[in-house]
Amino acid sequence: MTGDELIFELSTPGRVAYSLPTDETPLYDLAAELPAHLVRQAEPGLPEVSELQLMRHYTSLSNKNFGVETGFYPLGSCTMKYNPKVNEVVARYPGFSAIHPYQAAETVQGAYELMYNLQEDLKVVTGMDAITLQPAAGAQGEWTGLLIFKKYFEEKGERAQRKKIFVPDSAHGTNPASAIIAGFDVVEIPSNERGTVDLAALKAAAGSDTAGLMLTNPNTLGLFETDIVEMAEIIHEVGGLLYYDGANANAILGKTDPGEMGFDVVHLNLHKTFSTPHGGGGPGSGPVGVKEHLAPYLPSPLIAKEGEQYVLKELPRSIGRVKGYFGNFGVNVRAYAYILTMGPDGLKQVSESAVLHANYLKKRLEPYFDTPYGQHSKHEFVLSGKRQKKLGVRTLDIAKRLLDFGFYAPTVYFPLIVEECIMIEPTETEAKEVLDAFADVMIEIAHEAEETPEVVLNAPHNKAVRRLDEVTAARKPIVRYTKPEEN
Ligand SMILES: *Cc1c(COP(=O)(O)O)cnc(C)c1O
Repeated sequence: MTGDELIFELSTPGRVAYSLPTDETPLYDLAAELPAHLVRQAEPGLPEVSELQLMRHYTSLSNKNFGVETGFYPLGSCTMKYNPKVNEVVARYPGFSAIHPYQAAETVQGAYELMYNLQEDLKVVTGMDAITLQPAAGAQGEWTGLLIFKKYFEEKGERAQRKKIFVPDSAHGTNPASAIIAGFDVVEIPSNERGTVDLAALKAAAGSDTAGLMLTNPNTLGLFETDIVEMAEIIHEVGGLLYYDGANANAILGKTDPGEMGFDVVHLNLHKTFSTPHGGGGPGSGPVGVKEHLAPYLPSPLIAKEGEQYVLKELPRSIGRVKGYFGNFGVNVRAYAYILTMGPDGLKQVSESAVLHANYLKKRLEPYFDTPYGQHSKHEFVLSGKRQKKLGVRTLDIAKRLLDFGFYAPTVYFPLIVEECIMIEPTETEAKEVLDAFADVMIEIAHEAEETPEVVLNAPHNKAVRRLDEVTAARKPIVRYTKPEEN
């Protein structure tokens, strides 16, 4: 047991972490200025601690946390890359952080210019003709894109007929969820033995009731859908549209783009590919790009340029707003700073290194774990823990054992089509020594599964907590402090 586990309750009656003068008249009487119903009638039940205790409490909590700045974070389908600090510095410039969205346009031309330039850059990255920066996350981008599908079919008088959205069985869970929320029916398309979309099944399913296909490419197995041109033809031939889930664009930056592949609508996760950390529950940004024929339906307003002025442009046939103001502006500032510091060649190098890192790790681990798909991967790859499961050690146990060695666990049990799935995305920002250290530990765990399985089964051994009841932790978290005497 460590010191902070011994003493969980820190409060001692009467102890304080501050001292304020007591003999002076307050500068103003806050209670007199607040509406009566907002004035607290009783003391808030806060812990009574000294400043030092308070400081140690928060420092200790922060030390229990894990992030990219703590260690390797190979979470598949999440792109946990390092976020260069210059992006944070820029996002905090008062000209970006101390302005208000309702300010007159002529007083915030710099912010408008940044958003305009980012829209232009993302057009190039995606191969689309128009971009909205409003959506706050990937999933909201998907929903926005599907509302655009809907509006397009409505104007063509085909909305009632076009109900079906095709989603491959390897897709991220947000895809079918977004389609349902947007009012479509989801039809799952199976993958073939190579891990890509079964073209014959897609062809058989397509018809006059098709609204479209949602596709991630490379898909969530890290495999490039090489039949994408044929898929686009199948969908367009029956009058449907193609949606590109570009949450993880780390493998294609500067190499190809969804426009070239035949997609009509795309979202990007700036909080994955463009440096803002993903996964911390903080703000995100999921810009949506569309081809020319869908541009009138984008959320309104867009940032436009008239002469030398940046202005808000309302779109009369828009689906409407999907988010207040201009989306999560600070995330967009970080993404723009990232794009400028990388430049076109730098972005291309991101995808080359991301793909190289994933394939290097895959090769090193192949002799020790099952690899359901042998071909080259893109930015991520999947292993299967089937061999270890036969020894009584499951993928979850391997994930927990990794924590003992200071590594965050990869994504596990997703995609659902791979038994005992372990999904690894190393990202381009890691050094070879880090990849090697991770591979060495994975290999050691594979040996442990054979020789000393109980060590893996009882992991983690050196963390503040062992195995949690994850459902209860997620569904019924205790986030409010209650003083012991009030229990
Ligand atoms: C992360 C992710 C999403 C969802 O993005 P959020 O910003 O978390 O809503 C969608 N699709 C894929 C493939 C993803 O990896």
